[in-house]
Amino acid sequence: MYWQKDIETAPREDLERLQLERLWHTVAMASGADFYRQRFSEAGFQPQSLRSLDDLRRIPFTTKEDLRSGFPYRFLCVGLEQCVRLHSSSGTTGRITVIFHTQGDIDNWTELLSRSMYATGMRTSDVFQNMMSYGLFTGGLGFHYGAERLGALVLPTAAGNSKRQIFFMKNLGTTVIHIIPSYALSLLNTFAGEGVDPKEDVALRIAFLGAEPHSEATRRKVEEAYGLEAFNSYGLSEMNGPGVAFECARKAGMHVWEDAYILEVIDPATGEPVPDGEEGELVFTNLTREGMPLLRYRSRDLASVYPEPCPCGRTHRRISRIKGRVDDMFIIKGVNVFPMQVEKALMEIPEVGNNFVIVLERNDRGDQITVKVEVNPASFTGDVRALTHLQERIRSRLRSEILVTPKVELLEPQSLPATEGKAVRVRDNREL
Ligand code: AMP
Ligand code: ZN
Repeated sequence: MYWQKDIETAPREDLERLQLERLWHTVAMASGADFYRQRFSEAGFQPQSLRSLDDLRRIPFTTKEDLRSGFPYRFLCVGLEQCVRLHSSSGTTGRITVIFHTQGDIDNWTELLSRSMYATGMRTSDVFQNMMSYGLFTGGLGFHYGAERLGALVLPTAAGNSKRQIFFMKNLGTTVIHIIPSYALSLLNTFAGEGVDPKEDVALRIAFLGAEPHSEATRRKVEEAYGLEAFNSYGLSEMNGPGVAFECARKAGMHVWEDAYILEVIDPATGEPVPDGEEGELVFTNLTREGMPLLRYRSRDLASVYPEPCPCGRTHRRISRIKGRVDDMFIIKGVNVFPMQVEKALMEIPEVGNNFVIVLERNDRGDQITVKVEVNPASFTGDVRALTHLQERIRSRLRSEILVTPKVELLEPQSLPATEGKAVRVRDNREL
């Protein structure tokens, strides 16, 4: 059941003792980096004064902006000759940020991914198709090495080329896939076009869904369409990448691997901790990184902690689904909305197809929100009354979820551009 039983099921006191030991080491290492040396001295923080895990709060947060300003070497605490790989965030806005990894870093990260995949039931007999972009993005190589170490057969098909993906699944007996949820939905169109039934004609049994926010309704839709079990996988390149938090076979929240990361949840406005169960911004501290450890890194991702122990026996705390990034939120007619709320409402309606986009505009009547929704092929009939009825149902379902009334446009299946990477759900034309 467990990849590393001792660590995964360690009593909390032991886990916290391990965290403290690793934190001492990490903070000592970090003080060798130009950035932290300066930060510590500005904050009057002395690494040797760290006595308990609570003392971590005396260290200031590290932000994305700090990482940008420290590009490329100011966070590095080993010589470049000790580094073996560089990864970067997939972010499309702002200046690029990079993370350097030593061989030890890659090994530790790989173990976390093997552990995560093993917890869902993946085994050496599985054939694993990794449909994520390979390269600077961490979803490709991270899972690749983890699955190899687990002992599965890895097909590094990478992102895109949908027909070839299906060809491989069908002819090489793929049983496990790693896929971006929006792509999992749009790939269904290619399955239909190829006349291949994702439930009957391929042998898939597990999917890892990650890299972007997605709702429980989307998970169910993927599970039903493909006939498999889907597990939520979370990570960010600043904390290595995937393998920060992962669902176990219980599918009830994601275990944060607390031997490798210290998790804090804070109020994004005040920086103060929020109680368990309450939503806040996730803040992570590396505990096992050699090349470039980050302390109290503000992820911008919003979620909450499930404090109850998991029936699987793992003692590492679980987090909820990620609601989105603080910066994903948009404000329309004074109401705060996350794209994930729209996604959740839409995916609960069976007639809704596999893609949608939210368009924000401003005219003389103020801000307008339009949700353009592809209709499921089976429901896209010429029956105008049925379509008008569906449009009204979508509008009222959305209104009750986001508290503003959107305009709803129904579109033919496959009329919106399909994405192979993270989906861009919002087109905000208000600034133009
Ligand atoms: P990157 O730094 O390019 O690896 O992107 C990491 C970001 O992707 C995270 O900070 C999250 O905003 C998002 N992300 C990754 N996995 C998930 C997930 N399972 N659910 C929601 N968002 C995710
Ligand atoms: Zn569990």
